Amino acid sequence: MQDFKTIFNTYDWEETLQSIFDKTEDEVIRALQNTKRDLEDFKALISPAAKPFIEQMAQQSNSITRKRFGNTIQMYAPMYLSNECQNICTYCGFSLTNKIPRRTLTDKEILREVSYLKSKGYDHILLVTGEANRTVGVIYIKNAINLIRSQFANITIEVQPLDQEEYEQLIEAGLYAVLVYQETYHQEAYKLHHPKGRKSNFEYRLETPDRLGRAGIHKIGLGALFGLEDWRADSFFTALHLKYLQKQYWKTKYSISFPRLRPHSGGLEPKVEMTDADLVQLICAFRLLDEDVELSISTRESELFRNHIVNLGVTSISAESKTNPGGYVVEQQSLEQFEISDERSTEEIAKMLNDRGLEVVWKDWENFR
Ligand code: SF4
Repeated sequence: MQDFKTIFNTYDWEETLQSIFDKTEDEVIRALQNTKRDLEDFKALISPAAKPFIEQMAQQSNSITRKRFGNTIQMYAPMYLSNECQNICTYCGFSLTNKIPRRTLTDKEILREVSYLKSKGYDHILLVTGEANRTVGVIYIKNAINLIRSQFANITIEVQPLDQEEYEQLIEAGLYAVLVYQETYHQEAYKLHHPKGRKSNFEYRLETPDRLGRAGIHKIGLGALFGLEDWRADSFFTALHLKYLQKQYWKTKYSISFPRLRPHSGGLEPKVEMTDADLVQLICAFRLLDEDVELSISTRESELFRNHIVNLGVTSISAESKTNPGGYVVEQQSLEQFEISDERSTEEIAKMLNDRGLEVVWKDWENFR
């Protein structure tokens, strides 16, 4: 059976990057006119040559999104279960060597956090942990899913990459989706930013969506952490990954997220800056490449940016996020994984969306368990 690693290994980072920078205005115009777009069109749309066409891209992106998803935006909330982590990641506040108090929520604490989120109306939840297999391994995650599954229509996790059989167990327990960002597809930069722990295994992470597809997960979320390497090349490889997965595991749904480096304890400066205009260009390019993929923006982004981007192709956003375990109710003061930027309440975000003609979707399917 083919896997993504085999395809990925046929590409060279520098050549790929150069081919994006070589795209011309004519190729951008062709990409805009095409009704079915391929990865060469995507390269043109994220290239510097597409900069003067961002307005046109945004209009097309919005119209495709409204046609496919209606005037709706899904809202979800992340719930951090633990900040214990055995990895060193240069960009993260939970990194092993950071001297911070470590905490993993108990069942009782999880339920207290859940009741706060339920009181706000959330039905989609994202469970987040660091990577500490002894304390927050599969048994802990499965227990958390069992504990809360009757209260949510949709449970997603963002935890350490697991084996296929472990994913199968979690799907059986009620797991709906898994977010697993490659962080960067640049192998040397990946090594540099993940010097210690299981996460330093680039290939195991790269193969994770394949294991998820084989396990029969409903939805897989992809993405790169922008700032570690050139955002255009990382976005191309994310798109390549998406297109491969869609063909291979066609029953699965997909989403793309667009995290940019944010300040945290012992903060890392971005190597390559991605401006707001770059991010708008990228989000629109993904929508023009793929009408069905869900596009998600978190509270890492500013209030102003999120106010605008919700009408340009995005289909789901988080609100009022706390990036520390117990941050909603249990322990509001502990250290965050990264600082959030948009600090508005759930109600304020819902109102902002309504004011822009968008209906908030709290859940999009019924859980009959
Ligand atoms: S990014 Fe994830 S794996 Fe890396 S230090 Fe942070 S919590 Fe741990």
